[in-house]
Amino acid sequence: MSQKKRGILIVFSGFSGSGKGTVMKELLLCYPDRYALSISATTRKPRALEEDGREYFFKTKEQFEEMIAKNELIEYALYVENYYGTPKEYVEKQLEAGKDVILEIEIQGALKVKQRFPDTLLLFVTPQNADILKERLIGRGTESEEVVYQRLSQASEEALRVEEYDYLIINDTIEDCVKEVHSIIQNEHRRVSRNQEFINRMKEELKRFSKGE
Ligand code: 5GP
Repeated sequence: MSQKKRGILIVFSGFSGSGKGTVMKELLLCYPDRYALSISATTRKPRALEEDGREYFFKTKEQFEEMIAKNELIEYALYVENYYGTPKEYVEKQLEAGKDVILEIEIQGALKVKQRFPDTLLLFVTPQNADILKERLIGRGTESEEVVYQRLSQASEEALRVEEYDYLIINDTIEDCVKEVHSIIQNEHRRVSRNQEFINRMKEELKRFSKGE
């Protein structure tokens, strides 16, 4: 029996307030068998309605630093004074099982992942303009005014490195955005460089004809 093809590692980033969390939740609801969303560890305090092990694994600074020391993270970064990192084990298992694994992470971590695993697909989501971003951040009411401004200033730094991503996705409506993300990923599966095994097999099979079999 043929082995299941390894999944693609996908990084999904976007400015804080871009709606990327909602897009990801919806993508997973629509295609639960195809995608797995990695759950990060963080030292940020849980927001109302967030649960340990669902949105994040909430850790103390000491616990997080122990994970770093034990090499349990694929990458980690400091973002607005908190650590965020991707646990290795889950990602590896899901990729092996043939699922496309999505890391919803910020840009420093994204670039580290790309460096370590060059065939990672990098997607960046943004609203149409900066005013919408600010309105969304204020509107969701989960952060103090000070943190909103820290996050907006982080966004302007992140914007400087967006060119290093593979695809830019404008989040106008969630529904369209989900369709677009799914179709980009499906096309990515057809990339010749991701189908080397198939191509090698075909070449071998075709050789038979040139030998007159
Ligand atoms: P939030 O505090 O809004 O949940 O997340 C803040 C930022 O950290 C977001 O841009 C989010 O994508 C990013 N983030 C979440 N998990 C990780 C992670 O494991 N690694 C890195 N590098 N960034 C993360």
